[in-house]
Amino acid sequence: MSEASDAQAGCIFCRIIAGEIPCYKIFEDQNILCFLDIGPVVTGHTLVIPKRHFRNIFDMPPEAAAGLSGQLPALARAVCAAVAAPACHILLNNGIEAMQSVHHAHCHIIPRKNGDGFFVPWNPGKLEPWEAQQLINQIQSNYVNS
Ligand code: AMP
Ligand code: ZN
Repeated sequence: MSEASDAQAGCIFCRIIAGEIPCYKIFEDQNILCFLDIGPVVTGHTLVIPKRHFRNIFDMPPEAAAGLSGQLPALARAVCAAVAAPACHILLNNGIEAMQSVHHAHCHIIPRKNGDGFFVPWNPGKLEPWEAQQLINQIQSNYVNS
């Protein structure tokens, strides 16, 4: 089952990919594995993970990210259709401060419908023009894609 040549000892998702521990598998291809989240925040909560071990998005080369993201539209459609959800979140937590608890990159598909009880705090602030320009400059000077 495993295509992962760089499995990390002790990584629970590498162990799932290796078939050492079970999962509720939905789909796999040569790059990714898709399975149900064991602690769903809503019905249908699904994970999509690269078969190679990357800590999170910061460590992923473009081709690995493409392998993951290329399956997201079809998987999101299938998950949402299965639970009759008209909407979904596609979410990656990257780093402890961003609530990442399993340190093997993974993408959450969280189907959403009215009244599902799932709440995401989202409190918009204000973006000043000077700050926007400063941020643009800082981001552009840090951009490297390789
Ligand atoms: P995150 O906070 O983004 O790192 O999310 C990790 C997710 O992995 C959580 O939603 C967990 O419920 C889920 N999870 C952890 N262990 C397993 C497992 N063995 N099988 C399926 N999902 C898991
Ligand atoms: Zn891993």
